[in-house]
Amino acid sequence: MEPFGAEQGIYKDVDVLDPEPDTYKPTELPEREDELSRIHSALRPITLGGSPRNILVYGPTGQGKTVGVDLKTEQLQQWADSESDVSLTVLRVSCKGAGKSWNVLAALVKQAREARYGKTVEKPRGPTKVELFEMLSDDLQAIGGMIIIVLDEIDGIQEDDYVLYELPRASIDSVSIGVIGITNDYQFHENLDADIRSSLGSREVVFSPYDADQLRDILARRAARALRDTYFEDEIKDSEHLQSDVLSGDVIPLCAALAGQDTGDARQAIHLLSTACDLALDDGSDIVTESHVRKAREEIQEETIGKGIRGETIQRKIALLTVLESELSGDAPEGTTQLYRRYKRFTKQIGADTYQQGTFREKLNDLAHGNILEGDRRGRGRGRGMTNMYSLSVDPDLVIDKVGDDNRLSQITERFE
Ligand code: ADP
Ligand code: MG
Repeated sequence: MEPFGAEQGIYKDVDVLDPEPDTYKPTELPEREDELSRIHSALRPITLGGSPRNILVYGPTGQGKTVGVDLKTEQLQQWADSESDVSLTVLRVSCKGAGKSWNVLAALVKQAREARYGKTVEKPRGPTKVELFEMLSDDLQAIGGMIIIVLDEIDGIQEDDYVLYELPRASIDSVSIGVIGITNDYQFHENLDADIRSSLGSREVVFSPYDADQLRDILARRAARALRDTYFEDEIKDSEHLQSDVLSGDVIPLCAALAGQDTGDARQAIHLLSTACDLALDDGSDIVTESHVRKAREEIQEETIGKGIRGETIQRKIALLTVLESELSGDAPEGTTQLYRRYKRFTKQIGADTYQQGTFREKLNDLAHGNILEGDRRGRGRGRGMTNMYSLSVDPDLVIDKVGDDNRLSQITERFE
């Protein structure tokens, strides 16, 4: 077993390559100057003795929305703390996985009470959402002054839009409230009730995906802080001026290009770079190369696909096994009719429901949409229409491994090992 602490290490500060904002938060986002200045101008009325505007921030994940709103509200808080006659309180709640407005309101009441009493309090349990809203109003009134409420990932509120409707129009004596809603999901924004959109989204700020050039600079700044012997020439903080004895020259451009062509997600780009650095350490190499990046990307993809497969329903897993079997017996690609025969045999073997062929075909198509299968449309011959021919687009061993984790299906996968 290798001892800890013996690694020479390429890191100066390993936490900087952790994309979680709790571990490391950048202090500046030069790529988001325009977006941040729009947030700035929506908050500015506070500094002029007026009320803040509500803001709706949207854009795909990993675009600096959470960290950007954090930086601006912290900056405002610092200003308010330095002014003797301004009282500002910022409450932040993540609505991720919240489901109902009730959960968001309970979290807000907890936060508001903690701000009010200056100590940890329990989340309320019993009240209805309307009662919770009244409790919240009382607490906010007691806190007084300016209150900014940041609701992050509001797309997590799926079941009812009560809190999104009520909060931006709340009018409470002696308090002025500004709500900043953030969403990753453009569709959610489009589907919002028109009233909510007009009150919450009185200012809208869009964070559009980073391109590869921007991702390069973001990665270069992280690398300069995280890695040893890595610094900016002439203090110019862009990727062109990055010098490093640890990174070979193509590492950052490659990470940026790969993440850029996928989704432009900075979190993904940072994760890729840090995985590549870890692989270099594992190798005992004191330089990170392009091949570490490629290997890192493979590992990450396998992990994501693996999680995806494991989370599938049993019927989709069985559908996946039919294609696996066809692949391993050299018959792939096959059409629905042949695969359905395999399906009937499998469901009988494990005592699962056997669905109609049409439903089975839907399962195959779902898997193709998830990029686990490849569906190739082909003619069935003259005048006989089109059919889909399916094959695996992932490693068969990965399928055996992940589907085999499901006890009900391991008796099938065992045969393939
Ligand atoms: P979002 O809320 O849009 O999903 P985050 O604000 O959580 O994205 O950012 C994701 C990750 O990327 C975080 O680690 C953050 O520090 C980093 N990040 C995003 N944009 C930038 C940027 N312009 N400069 C430096 N780091 C950034
Ligand atoms: Mg976020």
